Amino acid sequence: MAIREILKYPHPLLKKRSGEVDRIDGEIKRLIQDMTETMYDAGGVGLAAPQVGISRRILVIDVSPIDPEQRLFAMINPKIVWEEGEIDHEEGCLSVPDCLEKVKRKEKVRVRGISPEGDEVEISGEGILAFAFQHEMDHLDGVLILDRVSPLKRDIYRRKVKKERRKEETA
Ligand SMILES: [Zn+2]
Repeated sequence: MAIREILKYPHPLLKKRSGEVDRIDGEIKRLIQDMTETMYDAGGVGLAAPQVGISRRILVIDVSPIDPEQRLFAMINPKIVWEEGEIDHEEGCLSVPDCLEKVKRKEKVRVRGISPEGDEVEISGEGILAFAFQHEMDHLDGVLILDRVSPLKRDIYRRKVKKERRKEETA
């Protein structure tokens, strides 16, 4: 296992739509292990493959630090098959550091996908598990929390990042 680098906004790969996985081989299994280790190392509760530079529809989620009844799992080619309710949820993102924004999310979702063992699985979630699903699935479509806030807030963050970059370059 290895910890991989988490890409940060405005890396272009984060804007790309990821492709479906059609074969779960050793490389995909290794990627899932690395994603898990990378997520834990960064203190996150979810991670999507494009965040480590791989444009494939894979996510790992472990919201047990917030909801102890949940546990770690990985899902390949996830699709929302049912959803209910709507709520504003404040969330951050490992790829968008120092940014906490309220985002519109469904309260409950049911998601169908493939397990790392190749079985079709369906997982229902509400609260933090539902939000984590939606957040990580956004990544698979090249969508960041910044794309879900007002243009003004997006602009403020964009300028902040630019300024920090300039500081780094002149340091
Ligand atoms: Zn994220």
